[in-house]
Amino acid sequence: MTNAIFDTQLSSTMQWFLMGISLSFALASIFVIACYRRKMFRQLNELKLSQKSLEFALQSGRMGTWEINLENDTVKCSNEMLYIWGVNPNEFKGQRSSLQSKVHPEDLEKMRTNIDIAIQNEALFEMEYRIFPFYGVERWVVSRGQYTFAPHTKRPIRFSGVVYDITEKKLKEEELKAAIKIRDQFLMMASHELRTPLTCMQLQLQVAEWDLKHRFPEAFTYDRIENNIKKNNQHLSRITRLIEQILDESKISQGRLIMLFEQFDLNEMVIDLIEQYKVTAEFSGVHVIFTPGPKVEGMWDRFRLEQVFLNLLINGIRYGNKKPIHITVNSKDKMALLSVRDEGIGIRPEDQKRIFERFERANHDKEVNGMGLGLYIANRIVADHGGEIRLQSEYGKGSEFTVVLPM
Ligand code: ADP
Repeated sequence: MTNAIFDTQLSSTMQWFLMGISLSFALASIFVIACYRRKMFRQLNELKLSQKSLEFALQSGRMGTWEINLENDTVKCSNEMLYIWGVNPNEFKGQRSSLQSKVHPEDLEKMRTNIDIAIQNEALFEMEYRIFPFYGVERWVVSRGQYTFAPHTKRPIRFSGVVYDITEKKLKEEELKAAIKIRDQFLMMASHELRTPLTCMQLQLQVAEWDLKHRFPEAFTYDRIENNIKKNNQHLSRITRLIEQILDESKISQGRLIMLFEQFDLNEMVIDLIEQYKVTAEFSGVHVIFTPGPKVEGMWDRFRLEQVFLNLLINGIRYGNKKPIHITVNSKDKMALLSVRDEGIGIRPEDQKRIFERFERANHDKEVNGMGLGLYIANRIVADHGGEIRLQSEYGKGSEFTVVLPM
């Protein structure tokens, strides 16, 4: 009996003890689970945040993600990738072919080869290629991807990676390549143009040296020396003109052509320059005709307008078939008009706009050296004055260039 009472008491104490333990265990578990859930929740939030930052980073870098399931040939892409591809995300059903059909046919073949290589070597796939997101629009993209192989076999089951739009970079590269090509052509042309007068001068010096050495008296007559000096002066002015054109072209392309405006009369400027270039014109057998009229004054850069006029005058001499050059200075409706007309080879209608562009020359049957820079520079100078150069020409009959300037 005593034992029974004792047993009952023990079992109830034991029960309380066990219940206590269970309760503590339950409480501890709830606490641990709560902590764990909080941690999970925090981690999930962090994950969501980093996913958002990743999406933002991918979007900012115009980068999309893709994943091809090779077992059922479907694709999962990020919205950015679809945007690059010009595909509406709501209409995209995951077909791989709908994306591939937008790849440039020339690049598609190369892409297949690169994919094969990547599978064979279990290597990273990387390729730049062109796509047509919309009709008539071409985009450059670069894709990087990696294969996932089925465990224990070498069968690729998944192909995933990133793609980003490099169109802007490609365009800049193309621009840079074109600029380098133009620069190279320019340097070639400039050195060729400079070499011609330099070679002539060098030859003349060699002949003079030979004449001196052999005491050749006929070589040192007044007429011959005068003729040589004139020729050398012509070569020197050509070299100087070429160097000035090269420097001006470089200043224009860097936006550094500075104008210094002052008040002066165009008649006066033309008279001065014709006087300076009288010898050159006479030597070339060209008659320059100019009758000054009433004052035509304005605020212009004298040095630069002299350059414009000289370019037109020298072109008249070079392309004028040794016929007279007519110069006029007038004004009309508050505009000053300075024109240079020759009766030379003329310019075909299809060339008349083009010759004002950089390095552009008309295709004449008659070969005259030049870099195609003079009219380009003249046009820029006149445009910087708020004016324009007009051209009237008939092929085979002559040309008239008119500089129009606001007064
Ligand atoms: P270039 O040094 O080549 O003459 P320009 O810019 O001065 O360069 O002229 C560009 C081109 O325009 C020339 O190459 C020539 O074909 C044409 N041209 C310029 N002036 C005349 C002109 N008065 N008559 C005929 N063609 C001309």
